Amino acid sequence: LASLFLARIHASDLNAFLHVDDELTLQQARQADQRLAAGDATALTGIPIAHKDIFVTRDWRSTAASKMLENYVSPFDATVVERFNQAGTVTLGKLNCDEFAMGSSNENSYFGAVKNPWDTSAIPGGSSGGSAAAIAARLAPAATATDTGGSIRQPAALCGVTGIKPTYGRVSRFGMIAFASSLDQGGPIAQTAEDCGLLLNAMCGFDERDSTSVERPSEDFTRELNAPLQGLRIGIPREYFGEGLAADVEQAVRAALTEFEKLGATLVDISLPKTALSIPTYYVIAPAEASSNLSRFDGVRYGYRASDYKDLSDMYRKTRAEGFGDEVKRRILVGAYVLSHGYYDAYYVQAQKIRRLIAQDFQQAFTQCDVIMGPVAPTVAWDLGAKADDPVANYLADIYTLSTSLAGLPGMSIPCGFGQGEKNGKRPVGLQLIGNYFAEAKLLNVAHQYQ
Ligand code: GLN
Repeated sequence: LASLFLARIHASDLNAFLHVDDELTLQQARQADQRLAAGDATALTGIPIAHKDIFVTRDWRSTAASKMLENYVSPFDATVVERFNQAGTVTLGKLNCDEFAMGSSNENSYFGAVKNPWDTSAIPGGSSGGSAAAIAARLAPAATATDTGGSIRQPAALCGVTGIKPTYGRVSRFGMIAFASSLDQGGPIAQTAEDCGLLLNAMCGFDERDSTSVERPSEDFTRELNAPLQGLRIGIPREYFGEGLAADVEQAVRAALTEFEKLGATLVDISLPKTALSIPTYYVIAPAEASSNLSRFDGVRYGYRASDYKDLSDMYRKTRAEGFGDEVKRRILVGAYVLSHGYYDAYYVQAQKIRRLIAQDFQQAFTQCDVIMGPVAPTVAWDLGAKADDPVANYLADIYTLSTSLAGLPGMSIPCGFGQGEKNGKRPVGLQLIGNYFAEAKLLNVAHQYQ
């Protein structure tokens, strides 16, 4: 199985993988064979998996798709990687993404953009573009990804695959290269909700090395998959179907909602009135945290160091100027500004207050419904290069995913049909499912009944 996927990876020109090492992979595969033969297997033993290059690994380089970490090898495995290794999965390699997970198109990778397997002139979405493209192109049956403001759900949607961002705190952030710590959350991308449930079983769990890890009894995320949907109340947020939503995406999403009605669910009109504020709120809080997290890349402790400098501060300056890409620098500048004396109250504190109101909107909505559904992204995948010089256009495309992240809620994307690309090629559409805290098993159940 591992050889089959390695052969496909070597034959692919999507740029989804950053590092592959056949010998390391086959070594793990042989160990899995031994476990299977010894009767010591879990549900995932021998299953090939690829990890987003945000999770650090001892055996593969860990770059966060940045020049800053181009040759960095971690002395330890991320908790997520460790948990999968213990379950017996076989690592296929590390997946491309936006630099430090900042982006919505995977065009911010130092190692070049990933192509969308459905139409190679399109972006795969981001930041987990490599993860979504690898699953869609059958280069891997399972992948890890991270979601800070939509980076699991949006690329899953644009590549026509299934992904879930669990409740904040479910998956350990230890060994996940930090972007915005109060938002970052790992999760799986795979073909189906059932596969995602099996992967979550291995991924989730308390970790004392992550201060925001939640301590809860372990659960089987596949336990509710077959429950009927009779009587399920699906909240449809008005604000997710307004101006800016492309007609082809709306059509595919509404057709899926009709299918849910046939499965016995009822649709309830709800309102998430602060939706529009999620963009400015997120793009204050996430850069603020990023500017702090990325201060560790100083040319001393990790990775890249400029070769030619006069003194220590010149070394810092040149290292960071040469090592970071434009989007990362933009975020550091914005973040340092909103945290600075005199602006902190006006921007950062204000954003934190709105974040609380956004979370309250969801709690109000969940008094009227069991799950919330809507589009993941306002359009299908756009053409490579189309928005590459327009950061704000990229930020605006995050409108339907940011609130869930700010509230810390679980969110999921499942494929629900196709829209039209600019050259009339078919491009996938994703349906977003949002649940209340710790309702992952419910989301997987709802998704599985549709799939
Ligand atoms: N597109 C968002 C950003 O650029 C979200 C990225 C993410 O979830 N990692 O910040």
